[in-house]
Order: sequence, then C-alpha cells, then structure tokens
Amino acid sequence: MQLQRFTVRYYLLIAVFIILTATLIYSPLHVSADVSQPSSDSFQTAVFTELETNLIDLGSDTYKDSSLSLARGESLSDLLQDTGISSLEAFDITDSLGSIIDMRRIQAGQIVNLRQTSGGRIQEVSLPVSFDRTVTARWSSHGWLSSEQLSDIFPVPTVVSARVESSLFQAAKDSGIPLSIMMEAIGLFSFEVDFQRDIQPGNNVVLLYEKLQNVDGENMAAGELLYAGMELDDRNVEAWRYERLDGTVEYYEESGDSVRKALLKTPVDGARISSGFGFRNIPALGFTGLHRGIDFAVRIGTPVMVAGDGEVIIAGWHKLYGYRVMVRHANQYDTMYAHFSRIATGILTGVRVEQGQVIGYSGNTGNSTGPHCHYEVHYYGKPVNPSTLKFPPGHKLEGDDMNLFTLERRALIAEFNLQ
Ligand SMILES: [Zn+2]
Repeated sequence: MQLQRFTVRYYLLIAVFIILTATLIYSPLHVSADVSQPSSDSFQTAVFTELETNLIDLGSDTYKDSSLSLARGESLSDLLQDTGISSLEAFDITDSLGSIIDMRRIQAGQIVNLRQTSGGRIQEVSLPVSFDRTVTARWSSHGWLSSEQLSDIFPVPTVVSARVESSLFQAAKDSGIPLSIMMEAIGLFSFEVDFQRDIQPGNNVVLLYEKLQNVDGENMAAGELLYAGMELDDRNVEAWRYERLDGTVEYYEESGDSVRKALLKTPVDGARISSGFGFRNIPALGFTGLHRGIDFAVRIGTPVMVAGDGEVIIAGWHKLYGYRVMVRHANQYDTMYAHFSRIATGILTGVRVEQGQVIGYSGNTGNSTGPHCHYEVHYYGKPVNPSTLKFPPGHKLEGDDMNLFTLERRALIAEFNLQ
C-alpha cells in the first residue's frame, strides 16, 4: 500500500517535472498554441490538484493519534491539561463538547481519542460515548466546533439454544449469550420458575434476541430480547416480546397473558427467604403461631418495591410491624410490608403506586428480631402464601392486539424454527 502510493507519487512528480520543463522551454514560442489547446492546460491542473491532495495527505500522516481513558476523579479538562494545553483551551474544548452532550455524564473509564499535529497541538478530541455515537471537537478557523457521528446499526435477530449444566449464567457464558440478555430472560422466567427447585441440569433454554451490528457486520451490542423459552422437566415456560397497539411493550405467553404477574413474589432484589409462610415458633412472642407472611433477610436500608399497581391504604407506625405500608390492588389483593427503617417520601394513604416502585427501606423496627423485610399478601382480606400462590397476569391481550400478537408469534416460530 505504502509502496504503491510512493510509486504513484514518483510518477506524478516526474510528470510534473516534464510538463514544467516543457512549459518553460516552449511557452514563450507557443503562446497562441497554448490558448488553442485547453486540453493540455486542464491536464496540468489535474496533475497539480492531484499533487496538492497528496501533499495534504502526506501532512495528515504526520498527525499523532492517541487514545486515553479518564481516570477515577479526573475530569476531561484535567486530562486535556495533562497533555500540555492551557486551562482556557481545555475549557473551550469541554464547553464545545458540552453543547452536544451532558458533560456531567462522562465517567471514569471514558475513552478520549486525541489527534495532535507533529508540533503537539491538539486538533481533535473525540469521545465515543456509546457503541453507535461519537462526539468530536475539532479545531477550526472559527475556534473549537463539535459535532456528533452516529454509526448505522442494524438489528440482526439471532437464535441461541443453550443447555443448562450448572446455572443459567453458565449456560449464557458457554453459548455466547450476552449477560444483559440472559438477565432479562431470568427476570421473565422468575415469574414462573423457582430457580432452586425447577431447573435441572440438561434443561434447555432458547433465546431469540437482536444482535446490533455495524455496516461491517461486527457485533456492537445486544438489542431486544424477542423470545425466551425454557424446557423444564414438567413444563415449558415462554415469553414473547410484543408491542401493543397503544405502544406499551410487554412479554406474553401464547395465551395472551402477560408474563409479568399482577403481584411480585419478592418485593426486594436478590433476597434470601429467612422465614416462610405458615406455623412456626416465634421466639420473640414466646409461642407457636401462624406466620402471616414471608421474611426476607436483607440489610437495613434495602429498597422495598411495591408488588403491584395499587393504592396505599396504610403508611405509618404499628407497635408490632414498626414502620409499615399496606397497598390495595385489583382483584381483591392487598399487600403489606413491615419493619421498615423508613417509609419512602411521598408514600401516604391514598397515593397511587406502580409495580416495582420503591415504597420504603427495610429495617428492624417494631417487634423484629433482626434486619428483615416482612411481606404479606392478603386475598379477600385473609393472609395467603405468596410463594405458592399463582398470581393473575398483570395484563391480558384482547381483540386486535391478541390477533396481531398471534400473527407475529407464528411468523417468528416459522422464521426461526422455534418450536
Ligand atoms: Zn415476618
């Protein structure tokens, strides 16, 4: 490549030399001939233009490109000043970039690409802010000007089938499924599957998800999870992504029931059940009694999410339950959360809440023997066991939505051999 370019330049230089020599020798004698032969003139122009381009090209070869990454606690301005530029210019550059992106969102680890002249002067500062977006500040005759470059990204649906040997995470790793996609699938399966009890080695997981690729077919990121299915020993579970006619995106079972249930089985993230529902010894009370809920062992201050959409009917202090919140849901369900260290701001009687919203922070208040979250579900006013209860779906597809969903689902099955 380099040799070839050298050869081209070499011939160009010879050509220019010959033309210049010829022009110098013959032009005084052939002025009229020159005017009558514009083709020769345009040939010279073409050669000079070519030469000029090459010289600019040669010039850019002398730029020095480097790539740095922002250290913890370091600002972009600090990084730029470390390369030797003044604080004023560093300010101009960050100010210019700030016209396009929110500079407060630039974090440690951010890649900063610099282009400097051979003299060390910075010409370009570019930040790849996401897999498909780069923001660049360039030095110009008008000062520092910033622009953004978006790369074309194409979603390419991909089916991956994975055998579970030890865990779903292991299966994801072994079969190259992006972690974010597996996390999403696990979140969906969690409504139907008890991961400790239901999953056996040899169970199969099938995921259909989008790979986001650039024009060169390189994988840049994972897109949407379109389908997640798992074969268990006694049943199959499935989740299909569907965008409703009102624009809401949810995952559904074949029946049109949303995978998401009206109530969550677990109102805290990643918690261990420290005490189940039912009869037990209650040392603090000194007798055996019915445990009306489930206890999750969590550190004080863990956010507690409301299990479903509803209305707050109690938010306050109780001598046994400590700080507690009770919420009324549709279909005769109520949920109650107790022993909070504090109730979240704005959670008051009569307030509407949405599934997953944080209503308080776990604690050890009231009659409690250690930090935990006590979670109760009432059905028609009576406590029931949320671990074993099958909750109603959060949403059910009907009419045109159901028809469209069925068509889309069948098309995916046919195209990707899903069943
Ligand atoms: Zn309890």
